[in-house]
Amino acid sequence: MRGAAFRPGLLQNVPLHGAKLGPVPGDGRRLAEEVEGSCVENAVSTATPKIYCTTEGEWVVPVGQCQCLPGYETTGDSCQACKPGYFKPALGNDLCRVCPDNTRPSDTGATQCECEEGYFRSPSDPLTTACSAPPSAPRDLISTTLSAEGKLQLSWDPPLVTGGRTDLTYSVVCELCDVSGSCVPCSDKIRFDPSPSGLQDTFVIVADLDSHLNYTFTVEAHSGVSQYSTNRPISTLTTALDYLEPPKVTMIHLDERSPTSLSLSWALSRRPPAHITHRYELMYRRKDDEGEKDVTTYTVLILEKNSVQINDLSPGTSYMFRVQVLSPEGNPSSYSMEHEFHTSSIAESQIQNNSTIVMGAVVGVAVMLLIVVAVLLLRKRRLSSRGRGGPEDPYFSSDQLKPLKTYVDPHMYEDPNIAIQKFVTEIDPNFISKQKVIGVGEFGEVFRGVMKSPVRGEVPVAIKTLKPGYSEKQRQDFLSEASIMGQFSHPNIIRLEGVVTKFKHAMIVTEYMENGALDTYLRDRDGELPSYQLVGMLRGIAAGMKYLSDMNYVHRDLAARNVLVNSNLECKVSDFGLSRVLEDDAEGTYTTRGGKIPIRWTAPEAIAYRKFTSASDVWSFGIVMWEVMAFGERPYWDMSNHEVMKAINEAFRLPAPMDCPSAIYQLMLQCWQHERSNRPRFTDMSTFWTNCSEVQSL
Ligand code: AMP
Repeated sequence: MRGAAFRPGLLQNVPLHGAKLGPVPGDGRRLAEEVEGSCVENAVSTATPKIYCTTEGEWVVPVGQCQCLPGYETTGDSCQACKPGYFKPALGNDLCRVCPDNTRPSDTGATQCECEEGYFRSPSDPLTTACSAPPSAPRDLISTTLSAEGKLQLSWDPPLVTGGRTDLTYSVVCELCDVSGSCVPCSDKIRFDPSPSGLQDTFVIVADLDSHLNYTFTVEAHSGVSQYSTNRPISTLTTALDYLEPPKVTMIHLDERSPTSLSLSWALSRRPPAHITHRYELMYRRKDDEGEKDVTTYTVLILEKNSVQINDLSPGTSYMFRVQVLSPEGNPSSYSMEHEFHTSSIAESQIQNNSTIVMGAVVGVAVMLLIVVAVLLLRKRRLSSRGRGGPEDPYFSSDQLKPLKTYVDPHMYEDPNIAIQKFVTEIDPNFISKQKVIGVGEFGEVFRGVMKSPVRGEVPVAIKTLKPGYSEKQRQDFLSEASIMGQFSHPNIIRLEGVVTKFKHAMIVTEYMENGALDTYLRDRDGELPSYQLVGMLRGIAAGMKYLSDMNYVHRDLAARNVLVNSNLECKVSDFGLSRVLEDDAEGTYTTRGGKIPIRWTAPEAIAYRKFTSASDVWSFGIVMWEVMAFGERPYWDMSNHEVMKAINEAFRLPAPMDCPSAIYQLMLQCWQHERSNRPRFTDMSTFWTNCSEVQSL
């Protein structure tokens, strides 16, 4: 029995693993005899190991457990030291493990593997985890001035090297540094939201900043092993609130008037810092222009001072004035309220000064003549601007006047509902039925549906809805797209059928485009469409854009995702939201100057200083050409926005898509000329599609 009891196989298979049994005491007549054991070398047990031997010679009911020491593993019925390169950190019967990543190879019998140079374990890291390195510095730190005064957002990208850790946090320090580089901490007044340290997100909002000061922000990356590193992974940015929205014009005063002139001055919501010079954009129109349904003509003056004398006006006539402040970079504030002033009538001025009766009449006649001449000149100018310059440079550089927009910005109206009434047809909601959700816009779902028209019968339409819980501002922003769209009429611009505003849920109803957005349409048909069809699409988009630029409308977000395709493969430019000014575009990226810009589609000058013109739309059109010829490929592939901007500044341009006719690619390159005046105009492009023999032969 004793021989059987010490069979090694038995020892291996009972929990007394690693124990040696002692001699059987007693006379063998008992049902089971308790036998004490002891652990093999390099094994220990908390209680004395025991087992019972039955009269049948079987070992039963083992008690106690022997376990191999740290650095030793179970091999058969003994505990063997871990091999070099392996370790076992604790008591137990598990096997030695290979040393984790970033550790030095261990010696025989190791209980842990030391970290390689430059790698560490935080006190809370188990010995079984890989050693990790401290993080590198946060990248691409930028600041964005928020519209609220005194606030900016700092944002950055995570470090390139996380050191293999997931417990990264960031801290931000604010300092004021002088030219010699010596710095002092910023005032305690400055607040960080959510906090200056322990940040898990890659942004923080800094509030209560002073617009006169330059701040130096240092963002540091931290992880559980940062304390072992002597290098501080920091990224620094010196910035100021220079890009704050310029102050607003609060009040326009009439300083002096005559039958033909008005002298005005205006007050600002706050005094701009001394080092910042603002300019002013003054717009005015005759009040009685309001009645004309189609177009209201504004005269625009760009002024250096906050006062002006406007001459050559009609006697006894009311004029409406608005002023907005332009920051040094050309960023506008919102317009002031519209103020009404009228020139004195000739009779009035007669009463005021009898001695000027004759002069007044003469001046009146002269003024009338001047007005006639001015109107003729302006008309002529407008006609010629459609041919050449027009929208590319909407302003004269000094205090000269020029009609600005043929399309009317709905923001010009104090009450946006007036713009809607003016440009948009109201549809009875009973004539509209929604059928199926086909997309999601910024303000709510987009449906396919049917509109019952007394004239056209049942017309398929797209219905944009405003999701419940909207604010009045959101409702107005939503409807502003309709007030813009309602002013356009072109086969390559999405057509507005009308709006529903009198119903609880506002809706915008447009023509239905069966094939949806151009980018996804092309991606789904990669390589399937012949070149002539792709070029046909581009010709359509170019025609739509020419129409918009002729209307002095700058789109700012032209991209294949904002072009819709109907069942005849006709392409129509869409997405005219004003609120958009790119805020809703998923591609929009905040820039250091505030506001969101779809970097990959935007011309360098529009990114750098928000110079959005038809010439920047031409750049975007070049990108759309590339998207179309590359079947919806993402421009610049997976390059980051930062890399794209850098590459563009270093004169890199997208290569020709596969099978792209060379003339088309040459036109793309023209659209991407750094100097905007060297880019072709949409007007010039219209001849390209008809004259270019390579395009003709497709
Ligand atoms: P939007 O709010 O204009 O960006 O529209 C969101 C999505 O709805 C688009 O990407 C399209 O897929 C779809 N959509 C919008 N308008 C129309 C339309 N007129 N016809 C067909 N689909 C549309």
